[in-house]
Amino acid sequence: MATDYYQLLGVARDASPEEIKKAYRKLARKFHPDVNPGNSEAEARFKQIQEAYAALSDAEKREQYDRFGSVDPSEAGFDPFGGARGGPRSRGGVHVDFGDLGGTGGFQDLGDIFGNIFGGGARRRPAGPSKGEDLLVQVEISFSQAMQGASVTLPVQRKVECTRCHGSGTEGTARCSSCRGSGTVVSTERLKVRIPEGINDGRRIRVAGKGTEGSRGGPAGDLFVRVSVREDPFFKREGDDIRTTVPITFPEAYRGAEVVVGTIHGPVRAKVPAGTNSGRTFRLRGKGAKNMKTRTFGDHLYSVEIVVPKVQSPAGEDAARKVSELYGEDPRKGLPTGLG
Ligand SMILES: [Zn+2]
Repeated sequence: MATDYYQLLGVARDASPEEIKKAYRKLARKFHPDVNPGNSEAEARFKQIQEAYAALSDAEKREQYDRFGSVDPSEAGFDPFGGARGGPRSRGGVHVDFGDLGGTGGFQDLGDIFGNIFGGGARRRPAGPSKGEDLLVQVEISFSQAMQGASVTLPVQRKVECTRCHGSGTEGTARCSSCRGSGTVVSTERLKVRIPEGINDGRRIRVAGKGTEGSRGGPAGDLFVRVSVREDPFFKREGDDIRTTVPITFPEAYRGAEVVVGTIHGPVRAKVPAGTNSGRTFRLRGKGAKNMKTRTFGDHLYSVEIVVPKVQSPAGEDAARKVSELYGEDPRKGLPTGLG
């Protein structure tokens, strides 16, 4: 039985929180004990699914879990170091978490157990090749970078084989002075990562083979880049749609007008029909954000907001009186005045 949480839920390692939730719900319904009375296999599966979801639905726990890939849950309780070992470090705005050097408890401490900086004595390591650890870095990008796609260069710290001793940890009979006997050194690589157009906040990008180097000829782990997207003061994303507010004047609302609506694809000339109320929302098809999966674009939704002129003057007073005569009846007529 697979104990990899992603495999248990049948989702990709870069699955979005929504995808994880959806997969969990589907499986939970299928294996729920109420649906499978007396079926101990389903019950065991249900427990595993819950365990996987508990870890992957919590951003912090998921991050911790991702650093070590598959973890045997029976070993999860084994924590000889008791946690509290410094958190993620920050370098020039990019948070670089480095596998088995950080840790605040829980799964993170498994890095200390599995990793080799403490000699790896707590775990029976297989003699054959083993895959390197996955690494997670975070990067923050602007809203426009997310909408248009971007290429970012990240400083990524990886453990690589010591070139002085070629990983043996020794120089003749002495301990290698470069890696102090560990056989590995930390190298900072500037890695160029392409951010696809339309990326959602919190999404992960997998860069294969850019994690920690494997040992005894094993493949390198993967690098996961978690992308957080800064908010834009004007454009708001909702799913694949983009929402904005467009201010219009009273005469434009009354008579109708052609206005320029700013979209993430550039300006679009759009019509406001005569007699448009404040708050009315219009749709520009295909002018929204790109969906990374379907490669189609969402819509741009703009709501108009009638702006009242600021300057108070006798002419304005006169105009306002004339406008008020245009209302056939009290716009609040028929509205309830309370709960009764
Ligand atoms: Zn060395």
